[in-house]
Amino acid sequence: ASVIVAIDGPAGTGKSSTSKAVAAKLGLGYLDTGAQYRAITWWMLTNGIDVDDVTAVADASAKPVIVSGTDPAAPTITVDGLDAAGPIRSQEVTAAVSAVSAVPEVRALITDLQRSIAAEAPHGIVVEGRDIGITVLPDADLKVFLTASPEARAARRNGELKGKEAVDLAATREALIKRDAADSSRKTSPLAKADDAVEVDTTDLTLDQVIECVVTLIEG
Ligand code: C5P
Repeated sequence: ASVIVAIDGPAGTGKSSTSKAVAAKLGLGYLDTGAQYRAITWWMLTNGIDVDDVTAVADASAKPVIVSGTDPAAPTITVDGLDAAGPIRSQEVTAAVSAVSAVPEVRALITDLQRSIAAEAPHGIVVEGRDIGITVLPDADLKVFLTASPEARAARRNGELKGKEAVDLAATREALIKRDAADSSRKTSPLAKADDAVEVDTTDLTLDQVIECVVTLIEG
């Protein structure tokens, strides 16, 4: 049977690591929806679109072709055939993504894309993001909402960035809090927990414990 799992929560709660591992363990596909919003943001930046100009972003939103590979062992993302995996993690993209992903036309397009990817996954899929349980896949078989303290989230994010960019814990923490505030306060699809989602506070759990917890929830 095909199983659809929605994993939501703010940045740095372990959504990606957890979702990938759970998908690999259970033979499911994996979709990182944040990567899709980052990819469209990267396209806007490289094509000279002012990301604070809502009309310009809306008008351009259908132009880039975004393709996600859903193998949890090697997820991929391309924009117009170009590998976007590296550039979408830059600080420029991270700083601009909340604005781009708040534009309703952008959300409508990416939401359609996410639904068709989920519908086509042969054995089911783990989809991670911010609005999956409420908006994208309201009929998911299981919804999980991951949380963690701001300190734990900043420390994890810094661990991911280490070696790639200069890291400063306080600055990471501030940037995360700012992005959460932007993601939570927008009118279109704010970051929120679905009523029927299971909340898991990962602050004091290891990654393996979180993975085990989600696998147990899926297997019932
Ligand atoms: O998960 P990640 O931190 O890569 O997401 C980047 C940004 O993409 C988020 O801060 C949010 O603005 C946006 N996003 C979204 N809806 C999703 C996933 C991500 O608006 N489902």
